[in-house]
Amino acid sequence: MSEKLIVVLGGGESGVGAAILAQKKGFRVFLSDNGMLKEEHREQLRTYRIDFEEGGHTETSVLEADEIVKSPGIPDTVPMMLKVLDKGIHVISEIEFAGRYTNAKMICITGSNGKTTTASLIYHILKSAGLNVGLGGNIGRSFARQVAEEHFDYYVLELSSFQLEGVYDFKADIAVLLNITPDHLDRYDHDMQRYVDAKMRIIRNQQVEDAFIYWIDDPVVTKEIEKLQPAATRYAFGEMKRDQMTAYTGNGKLVIHAKEHLFNMELELLALEGMHNVYNSMASGIVAKLMDVSDEQLRTSLSDFKGVPHRLEKVATVRGVQYINDSKATNVNSCWYALKSIRTRTVLILGGTDKGNDYSEIEELVLTKARALIFLGKDNSHLHAFFDGKVEAISDAGSMKEAVEMAYAQAERGDTVLLSPCCASFDLFENYEDRGDQFRECVRKL
Ligand code: ADP
Repeated sequence: MSEKLIVVLGGGESGVGAAILAQKKGFRVFLSDNGMLKEEHREQLRTYRIDFEEGGHTETSVLEADEIVKSPGIPDTVPMMLKVLDKGIHVISEIEFAGRYTNAKMICITGSNGKTTTASLIYHILKSAGLNVGLGGNIGRSFARQVAEEHFDYYVLELSSFQLEGVYDFKADIAVLLNITPDHLDRYDHDMQRYVDAKMRIIRNQQVEDAFIYWIDDPVVTKEIEKLQPAATRYAFGEMKRDQMTAYTGNGKLVIHAKEHLFNMELELLALEGMHNVYNSMASGIVAKLMDVSDEQLRTSLSDFKGVPHRLEKVATVRGVQYINDSKATNVNSCWYALKSIRTRTVLILGGTDKGNDYSEIEELVLTKARALIFLGKDNSHLHAFFDGKVEAISDAGSMKEAVEMAYAQAERGDTVLLSPCCASFDLFENYEDRGDQFRECVRKL
């Protein structure tokens, strides 16, 4: 048995996965969580005979670590982390740790919006093409757990800025950067550049034989590329064709020009609606063509993908009004795309835990499309300060039931009721899934 002690901070899916992998690799392991663990995680740790504590950190035990695997939810500013950093212990993310123990090809997706959708779509395309592929990162079973328990040739990983902060030697064979817009700034001292720097770590260690796929119309991304001069081979996608672009649209078609081959497909046949999803489909299509998925396979997969719940999910049509659940829209930019993709008058339900939002980004779309706004949050003052006097029909709801009933009363035949909150959900709900599930349930009871 190795004498090296790995301490895992945080006992969620990512931490438990890392602890299991560390145990399997013969390290001494200790997992410590300041909060309480889920029963299933406790059981798994017991099954693998992994030492753990919950409800607080025992400093002496944590500080004994040779290396720490930190879960993405823990900021560097909590007291335990300040001591860890002060002692100079090496801190990595679960992604860095698991990456050491697999030779599989890594397809990594980051961005402020669209990560889950795009990672799921790429996974769907590769799996349908018959590849032995796993899906992980921010989604489903953790990457480390899969490295411990499975044997995949490829991984599609959704990576958040928090996970990227803790990577050093990890390398993406194919990196996809969808966009960078303000998000999570509360974790970055409201310093946008620190958030951007974290995202750009997706290209760390890449060489010319690796691929970097990015959205060329994003000014933040293009500025970073100019500055960092990535070593990887670049593949750009965007709305209109320009020089050296791999994917673009034209004549109602999505075009991918990769590996000296031209693929095209009618935009109407794409399973996912909205311009943002055309971008997600382009990025996924480039990955597929770089991996030699046939045109026919790609076309089928881009058109039969079922989508991901809580992202522009069509719930039901009640009395000629369509209800759409976009609960995952936890920032202003994703709500902008949701509004943009809707062609009818809209009753918009928004609000929640406001991360310092600037609503001017959606102002124009709200003024042209919104029949009414319903604010669903414990504290709606920020929303009122911005929208009062600009939109006539504004009301406050204290629960999802109330919000949906208000929307039902105000929407007219042919309208859309859209839940796209621009905010996190923790004031009134457990998480965004709970918020979306409640929306679905309330709509079905109408
Ligand atoms: P993430 O995993 O990055 O949070 P999701 O795929 O879960 O992204 O989508 C989050 C929200 O962003 C949803 O409301 C969705 O409709 C919207 N969205 C999806 N793709 C994009 C994109 N490329 N640009 C902007 N918004 C997007």
